[in-house]
Formats: sequence, structure tokens, C-alpha cells
Amino acid sequence: MIHLRTQEEMDAIARGGAIIGRLHAELASVVRPGVSTLEIDRFAEDFIVSHDGALAAFKGLYGFPGAVCISVNEEVVHGIPSSGRVLEEGDIVSVDVGVRLEGWYSDSARTFAVGEVSEGAVALMEVTERSLEASIEAAVVGNHVGDIGAAVMRTVGTESYGIIRELVGHGVGRELHEEPQVPNIGRAGHGPLLREGMVLAIEPMLSAGTPRIRTLDDGWTVVTADRSLSAHFEHTVGITREGPRVLTAALAPAEAATPIAGGA
Ligand code: MG
Ligand code: MG
Repeated sequence: MIHLRTQEEMDAIARGGAIIGRLHAELASVVRPGVSTLEIDRFAEDFIVSHDGALAAFKGLYGFPGAVCISVNEEVVHGIPSSGRVLEEGDIVSVDVGVRLEGWYSDSARTFAVGEVSEGAVALMEVTERSLEASIEAAVVGNHVGDIGAAVMRTVGTESYGIIRELVGHGVGRELHEEPQVPNIGRAGHGPLLREGMVLAIEPMLSAGTPRIRTLDDGWTVVTADRSLSAHFEHTVGITREGPRVLTAALAPAEAATPIAGGA
């Protein structure tokens, strides 16, 4: 069943989600050549648990060994942090983070450039992030889940990127993965109706080549079948009467509500 959450429940999800938003902001300067993915994992877990009651939600979930998922270059998702995986100039690295706070999950990912990266890598990251923005804009009451995937497809347009379709977004709440599934391809007006109170992880994953994927022998790491680069941007989003509410932004509700003197 698809759960509908109250505003107070969304506020609670946003308190956990804001930790991810701030962590991703911090990671922009942590991610650099010479840093191992295990060091990033340690930084992320320390950051999360420094907040009262917050836990790195992926740690141990389904048996995952890391605190966060760190996927480099052709790795799409579920990369296992390792001291042996040292980032190099020109890599791109996706850091997917889950937080559990007050019994609620939140889930957000972004892809970072490691130093100077190729024009192709920049373009891939940009189109993936724009796909997320467009699909969030489609997450409004009265639309359908298919409008979200349709927005990703529209953003990619005729450009030759692969939209990963074997992996999907999902509802988020008391569990990390709840109904409905939120595919990254879709037809406008199709799929479950979007209703006030739904909370969805929207997470386009694109490749610079094929949409097909493989899972490595470690049982976790998902790579593009042609080993082309992949990017992943994800937010947890609440469907509200006022429009989509990003619950994994850096500002917690109380802070966001504080007027800034002289600000717009
Ligand atoms: Mg995620
Ligand atoms: Mg997710």
C-alpha cells in the first residue's frame, strides 16, 4: 500500500533529510584526488551520527557493509566503500546516503567531480541533475507516477544517454523502500495517482552509453554493461498541496522558516 504522511511526519523526514543535504554540501570539499572511498564513508558516518539519534540507514541494510554507497565512474549504484579505491583526478563519484532519524528514513544521492573532469562527464552530470529537477517539478498532486519518468525522458530528449530502467525510485517512510516504485521512464498520465502526503525518492540514473547494467561478483556493485560513465541524483520529495517539497535539502524546516533579515 502507498502511505500518505501528515505535514508533521514530512517535517520529521525533513529533519533527517537535512542532515543528508548538509553532508552532501560538506562532501563537495571532501571528495578530491587521493581520498579513498572508505575515508569518504567514515566522514559520512561520523557526520550523520554527530546528530542526536541519527543513523546511517544503509549500514547493514540487506547486509550492505558500508555506511553509504559510493560508486565511481562506470559504477551506477551500491558501490562498497574501500580503502583500496582511491579517487583520481577526472573520476566522477556518486555518494548515495540514507539517514534514519526518529524512525523515519530519508534518501538522497549526488554525483561529484573529482578535480577536473572531462566535458563529457560534466555534461552527463548536468543532464542527470536537470532530469532530477524536471522530475521533481512533475511530482504534483493530480499527476501520475508515469509523469516523473516522462520528465526524465523529456530532459534527456534525443541525446544519446542511457536511462537506467532496471533500477527505480521508491516510496520512503518507516521503511527505506516502500510502494510505489518510481521508474525513470514513464508515460504521462500513467501509473499510480500522485496524492497529497506521498513521499517519494526520485532518483534518475543515467549513463553516457547503454541503459543496460550488470552486478559485479561482490554481489553489490552495479555497473553499466558497457562500462560507460554513470551519474545519479536523488532527492526524497513530499507531495503537498503547495507543490513538491524536497525533504533532503540542506535546510531543516525550522531553519527554512526563519526569515533572513534583508533577504528576498
Ligand atoms: Mg539513495
Ligand atoms: Mg533511493
